[in-house]
Amino acid sequence: MKLILRSLVLILSTSLFAQKQPADLIISGGTVVTMDAKRTIQDDGAIALKGDTIVAVGPREQIIRQYEPAQTLDATGKLILPGFINGHTHVPMTLFRGLHDDVTLNDWLYKYIFPAEAKNVNEEFVRWGTRLAAAEQIRSGVTTFADMYYFEDAVAEETKAAGMRGVLGETWIDFPAPDNKSEAEMAAYTERFLKKWQGEPLIHAAPAPHSIYTCSQKTLQDSAALARKYKAPILIHVSEMKKEWDDSQRQHGMSPVQYLDKLGILGPDVVAAHCIFVDEADRKTLAEKKVGCVHNPSSNMMIASGVSPVPEMLEAGVAVGLGTDGPAGSNNDLDLMEEIDLAAKFAKVTKNNPLALNAKAVVEMATIQGARALHLESEIGSLEAGKKADIVIIGLDAPNAVPMFDVYSQVAYSLKANDVKTVMIGGRVVMRDRKLLTVDEQAAVAKAREYGRSVAASLGMEPKH
Ligand SMILES: [Zn+2]
Repeated sequence: MKLILRSLVLILSTSLFAQKQPADLIISGGTVVTMDAKRTIQDDGAIALKGDTIVAVGPREQIIRQYEPAQTLDATGKLILPGFINGHTHVPMTLFRGLHDDVTLNDWLYKYIFPAEAKNVNEEFVRWGTRLAAAEQIRSGVTTFADMYYFEDAVAEETKAAGMRGVLGETWIDFPAPDNKSEAEMAAYTERFLKKWQGEPLIHAAPAPHSIYTCSQKTLQDSAALARKYKAPILIHVSEMKKEWDDSQRQHGMSPVQYLDKLGILGPDVVAAHCIFVDEADRKTLAEKKVGCVHNPSSNMMIASGVSPVPEMLEAGVAVGLGTDGPAGSNNDLDLMEEIDLAAKFAKVTKNNPLALNAKAVVEMATIQGARALHLESEIGSLEAGKKADIVIIGLDAPNAVPMFDVYSQVAYSLKANDVKTVMIGGRVVMRDRKLLTVDEQAAVAKAREYGRSVAASLGMEPKH
């Protein structure tokens, strides 16, 4: 009798109580745009989280039946998407925003930016620029960004403080940089940087050889060897201007992509920004070597550097993400939602074909394709059990948000950064109802104005305000 009673209690407890598993948070009630392999869109859906990870995604009824959350977040009437991925930028350059626009890339780099950097960039500059950029990026729903700059360890510290995810590349370049004056210094700094951030969930430290036109064969190969020693990614600008392609043909008798391949640089750990001048053979190489490419439509248009053949790259199986580049000189903002919109329209106008790249494809480029391009698709890019809880909640109440017939079309062409309401990275809310929780935005804005005055003075310019 005792035994029967005990089994009865056991049956009752498993069926009534043990059924509900604990969760730290349930986000419920909105339309969940999962970007999973089936591109499931769940109306009246829910997401359960534990720690920094998603444990379940599904219909609201089912999730609340299965999980007992410590906290809930109501997203009724809103869209829930994976956080957007800004695959290429130089965040401390926010403090050079608008310094010298409407010039060629070559002039911008050599006449203005390199001298401005030599006079102004130090670790403190990089920290404030990163804080400003974190505020700006979170406001447009960016949860992960890939960066290439100097003092990248300071970028990493500020990125972590802002609660953002970053693939952060310390620049290697064949002239004295603001942080390191020789290749030996760059190598030593980068090795310390890679060691320091190993095992840190938010930060992926990397070497970033700037490009084939600013790095010797030795610089390229040494930086790649160091990356591979620590299983780190390699960030590089590839085939970003016609002059680079012409010079490569003249000096190496081959395209920049083929030259990098010949040097053994290309592989499934390389993130190649731009890839504008890539022919069919190059696209095949990029796909075979599993190189991730990042398309930067605003930047390509602003510098008139050319048109990356994105539809052809996707067709060839290359992972293509989206980036803002800049934010100075080649875009001037970090609004990834603008890039989603422009990527589709840029492809349409240059192909003279409205079917060239559709809304769904560009939303993919900002999420799951972007994750593939950064080689992080097992961690981020979609809302699925086991992935990191990098989530944006977008409001649908603004005049520009209604009515809605197609979710992808709405995200690509109608919704704006201002419609992003709440942003979560690794389960931590970094913006709630448009209020930033991890960055002192006022201080960052005030400091940016101060830097505006000192940068202008260093170049003998009149500051604007
Ligand atoms: Zn760039």
